[in-house]
Amino acid sequence: MILSAKFLIKLTLYTALIAVIGLCIWYAKPYVMQYSYDRSGPIGTFVTNIEKNTGITRPPPPCSQPIVYRIGTMDPSFGLTKEKFIADINEAANIWEKPFGKKLFQFDPATSTTVAEDDMPINLIYDYRQQVTDALNTVGATIDSETPAYNALKAKYNNLTAQYSRDKATLTALKSAFDAAQNQYNSQVNYWNSRGGAPSSEFATLNNEKASLEAQVVVLNQHQDALNALATTINATSAEINKYVNVLNAQARQYNAISSTTGEQFEEGQFVSDSTGVRRIDIFQYMNKTKLIRLLAHELGHSLGLGHVASDTSAIMYPVNQANTLALTQNDIAALITLCGISQLK
Ligand SMILES: [Zn+2]
Repeated sequence: MILSAKFLIKLTLYTALIAVIGLCIWYAKPYVMQYSYDRSGPIGTFVTNIEKNTGITRPPPPCSQPIVYRIGTMDPSFGLTKEKFIADINEAANIWEKPFGKKLFQFDPATSTTVAEDDMPINLIYDYRQQVTDALNTVGATIDSETPAYNALKAKYNNLTAQYSRDKATLTALKSAFDAAQNQYNSQVNYWNSRGGAPSSEFATLNNEKASLEAQVVVLNQHQDALNALATTINATSAEINKYVNVLNAQARQYNAISSTTGEQFEEGQFVSDSTGVRRIDIFQYMNKTKLIRLLAHELGHSLGLGHVASDTSAIMYPVNQANTLALTQNDIAALITLCGISQLK
């Protein structure tokens, strides 16, 4: 059994772990009992019965022979072809087999008429879980497609406001230089007026000053107009950003609303084994190909007889499908070495 990390947000991880471990012990327990069954009853009768039914005299020790699996029911709503599903299972099996160095799983391309009873079916079962996931993927895709445009606008906005600050500082400096020159000019004019007029040489200088001040006014107005135009562009950009923000927020609200319909947590898949040795794997939900392969590898790990690796969040056998890697961690490997009773992997 494995849980989706997406829907554990509201729970503390600790609470989730306890729930998960409890459930998986429930699934794993009958499988373990299989090994002790021949000690609890008359061995002769047991062996005879088993031979009649399946031809197997006793359950093989872990890892000694490949677990034969087949494709069970496949709901077409997943949009996954049988060929792709087989390839994904094969990749998941490889995660265990490659470091182990020999086959742990054997695919049986059985049809409904040739199916062997002790084959382990792997089923794709479509229900509210994948339905919600598909809906989330659609909303997520919208958010993903809108986000770059939003980010580009935001960058443009930041550049424009930085430009505005620089231009405004330039205009302020020009204005104070102009004010100083104008004050200087006015005091000169007042001085000469109080003396009944300026001599002709001063008069010419003052006229030049006046012309210079008028030219500065033209430049100041040009700067002011440019600054106003920039402000208009900034406001338009800001309005456009707000449109994107509204769209993204609406999508986020929709995402959260859909998420909340699934409850606090759910199983992505499960390995089920009953006391008669009948085993199966059910897959209910996956977000993407990597998560599906991790999920399959996890449930295949249970079918080998592995329990959960609770301390290692990246492990394939961690109770939550959290990491995005397709390799065993050291803790997975240690668990496999212990289970198979070998000294080390290849
Ligand atoms: Zn599990």
